[in-house]
Amino acid sequence: MSTSPILQVREVTKQFGEEPQKLTILHPISFDIQAGDTVSIVGPSGSGKTTLLGLCAGLDQASSGQIFLKDVPLVGRSEDELAKIRNEHVGFVFQNFQLLPTLTALENIQVPMELKGQRKGVRQDALRLLQQVGLEARADHYPTQLSGGEQQRIALARAFANQPAILFADEPTGSLDAETGAMIEQLLFELNKQQGTTLVMVTHDLELASKTDVMIPIKGGRLQ
Ligand code: ADP
Ligand code: MG
Repeated sequence: MSTSPILQVREVTKQFGEEPQKLTILHPISFDIQAGDTVSIVGPSGSGKTTLLGLCAGLDQASSGQIFLKDVPLVGRSEDELAKIRNEHVGFVFQNFQLLPTLTALENIQVPMELKGQRKGVRQDALRLLQQVGLEARADHYPTQLSGGEQQRIALARAFANQPAILFADEPTGSLDAETGAMIEQLLFELNKQQGTTLVMVTHDLELASKTDVMIPIKGGRLQ
C-alpha cells in the first residue's frame, strides 16, 4: 500500500507566450492531495484554476516544477506518454461536456475502456454506468439529441469508465441551471464514493466547495 499522496504539486509554474509578451499565469504552486479525498479549487475567474487543473491532469505541460501523479512524474513527458498516463489513471469532466458528436451515448462511455485496453465486458460495463446516471433509455442517442444535463450525465459516466484513480472536473455544473447542476453534483459525489476515486473539482460555488474535504483557494495564479 502506497502512503505517498496521490498527487504532488511541486513549485509548478505556467507561462504563456514568448518575451516580451510572456505572461506568467501560475506562480510557483505546491500542494499535496491524498488518495480518496474530495478537493475543490476555488477562486475568481481568470485566477488560473483551469490551467492548474489541466497541468495536474496531464492535459498540458507545466513551464517548470514537477507534478507526481501516483508517483509518476508528469513534467517533461511526451504527448504520447501523457495520453497513456491519462488513460490509465485519470478521468476528466469539462464544463461544456465535450462528448464526441459522432458517437452515441453508449459509445462515448466505451471510448476510455477501449483506450485502456479493456477487451471483455465493455458494452456491459458501459451500460451499467449509463444505468447509474439514469440514462439507460438513451444508449443509442447522439449528444445533439440530449439536453445539457443529460450530456453532462453521460460525460460523468465516461469519466468514470476507465476506473480512474483520480477524477478532475472543471466547473462541471457551470453551464447548467441550478436544479440540473445540483443533480450532477450529487451524482459526482455518489459515483466518487462508490468507486473510491479521488475527486479534484474546480468551482466558484463556495457552497459546493464547502462539501469537499479540502479547499484550495487560488487568486492571481497563487495559492491564497
Ligand atoms: P480560470 O479557470 O481560473 O478562470 P484560466 O486558467 O482559464 O483561469 O486562465 C488564467 C489566465 O490565463 C487568464 O488570464 C487567461 O486569459 C490566461 N490563459 C489561459 N490559457 C491561455 C493561453 N493558452 N494563452 C494565453 N493565456 C492564457
Ligand atoms: Mg476556468
